[in-house]
Amino acid sequence: MQLYNLHTHSCFDDGKESPENYLRAAQELGFSALGFSAHAPIPNPPPWCLKQENLHQYAEEINRLKKIAGPELKIYHGLEIDYIPDITEDFSYWMQKINLDYCIGSVHLVKGNQGIWFIDGPAEGYFEGVRNIFGGDYKKAVSAFFHQSIAMVKTQKPDIIGHLDKAKMHNKELHFSQNEPWYIEAAEKLIKAIKENKTIVELNTRGLYTGKCEEYFPSSFILEQCLHYHIPVMVSTDAHQPNQLNSYFDEACKLLKDIGFKKIQTPFFESEL
Ligand SMILES: [Zn+2]
Ligand SMILES: [Zn+2]
Repeated sequence: MQLYNLHTHSCFDDGKESPENYLRAAQELGFSALGFSAHAPIPNPPPWCLKQENLHQYAEEINRLKKIAGPELKIYHGLEIDYIPDITEDFSYWMQKINLDYCIGSVHLVKGNQGIWFIDGPAEGYFEGVRNIFGGDYKKAVSAFFHQSIAMVKTQKPDIIGHLDKAKMHNKELHFSQNEPWYIEAAEKLIKAIKENKTIVELNTRGLYTGKCEEYFPSSFILEQCLHYHIPVMVSTDAHQPNQLNSYFDEACKLLKDIGFKKIQTPFFESEL
């Protein structure tokens, strides 16, 4: 089984430590591939994004690491790009601007009529956002998340979709259940868009090892649909420090095997599970 991680954040955005420290940690772990995916700059930049003025320095640093990594470890240059309709730049803009190898498309900020709902900060902000922006209607809020994700897949065509059901993170089955028909239907529509656009789904372990969520992104029933529709999957830990490079990696591979997957597929290689 190949060890790899294409979803990582360093000191260039909201991660800790230099990209070079990730490279060293990856070498110690025996990784064959390491990708850097800083949060792309967005207008009115939140503190967790790469700063526009550091963009070229980031690109230069990853390109330097490509040269020093040695033949055993392939380094890839990427971004995790947010999609907010009419606000963010097209993904193709970033792909060309710093000549990226790949991008992960993610929705962290959901556009509503009354403002923008940040799903990935502290829990209080998540609940407050549903109250203030969606009138406390969780179905409306989460449906808007899936709707925006579908539009991202169709119009931006990311190589990989990041944590595709992250809107569930702070809910913990409190205000809505993933068993409700509207939820299942919304997730299914996204899965169909992913299939049509040949997007790779990541099994993201971050919620589990940070203790913010009791399950992976996405949930098993969505992974079962991916298998059914022959959608390629890969494992990511969304590491924010070098010691998270392989957090829950083995467990995630086991889950994929238990569901029935035989291999993983990234934009660059396939590997037996
Ligand atoms: Zn993310
Ligand atoms: Zn991330």
